[in-house]
Amino acid sequence: MKQLLEKLSNAPGVSGHEEAVKDIIRAEIVPYVNHIEVDTMGNLIVTRDGDIDKPSIMLAAHLDEVGLIVRYIDNDGYVFFNPVGGLFDQTLLNQKMVVHTRNGKYFGVIGSKPPHVMKAAEYDKVIKKDDMFLDIGATSKKDAEKMGIEIGNQITFDSRFTVLHDDIVAGKAFDNRAGCVVLVETIKRMKDVKATVHAVFTVQEEVGLKGAKTSAYKLNPDFAFAIDVTIAGDHPGISMKEAPVKMGAGPAIIVSDGESRGIIASKIILDRIKNTAEEYNIPIQLEASGGGTTDGALIQLTRAGIPTGVISIPTRYIHTPHSVIDMKDLEASINLLTKMLESW
Ligand code: ZN
Repeated sequence: MKQLLEKLSNAPGVSGHEEAVKDIIRAEIVPYVNHIEVDTMGNLIVTRDGDIDKPSIMLAAHLDEVGLIVRYIDNDGYVFFNPVGGLFDQTLLNQKMVVHTRNGKYFGVIGSKPPHVMKAAEYDKVIKKDDMFLDIGATSKKDAEKMGIEIGNQITFDSRFTVLHDDIVAGKAFDNRAGCVVLVETIKRMKDVKATVHAVFTVQEEVGLKGAKTSAYKLNPDFAFAIDVTIAGDHPGISMKEAPVKMGAGPAIIVSDGESRGIIASKIILDRIKNTAEEYNIPIQLEASGGGTTDGALIQLTRAGIPTGVISIPTRYIHTPHSVIDMKDLEASINLLTKMLESW
């Protein structure tokens, strides 16, 4: 499971460029399902058939990650970029990045003025991403174009998956490659499931939950779950009052999130999750969060409404080059989902 997370975390997949991640998952999951398709939007939909008189259940995890795309190349060969998804400008500065082109990968660094030539006032200022640029080593615009750099290329953080200590691991894009691992492993491990299960690896979640919207409409499931990550409040600089879930204490079960554009989880699903966790002694944490939301919010509003719940992995430092999770939370999430599906 750690190896799969490593592969998925290291793979590039900024919103709209999910192919590499999709290929890894497809290869992994083929032997365990009855149908595989990629729909018009690019969602990977795999289905395990159940009994005809049993419900259909959609499990969604998004493939895409936050990152950058090429906006402009200047005459000296420097690359300017747009953010894709929510990024804090300060986390970008001086990072090593990878530009993915038709000719393969090129590395670049987000450059800045050295401290020696900064004015006193500049020390206290956050440098805005609009003032940043990527140095790819090109000597001119022509040189950059010869490398294959063009408008719209995806740019990802050059982060490598790393084990920090025991089950605690670091890497980029755990939002939501951690959820993808949970979904793949659930499909592999579930036995004796009577319901039809659609595992949907969605595209473009970070830019408006788009893949979830079209795939839920197409599948029209009886019940649904989104599997994603949530913010852990257990490190310096944040308080449990702001983000009351901890890493290592089991998946966060979202009661509500995202305020008016988020989800209020369907009671019928919440009860099922709570009962299963209790019956099998699986640790869970309930979360009523503010800020962000997940694919679950749009799936729930599909057609005449679909009872939907959200299972989230507590994750530190999401939407930065290096996030941190506890593998034990993945294990508990898989266990919870598998038991729930087997009892449906
Ligand atoms: Zn996410």
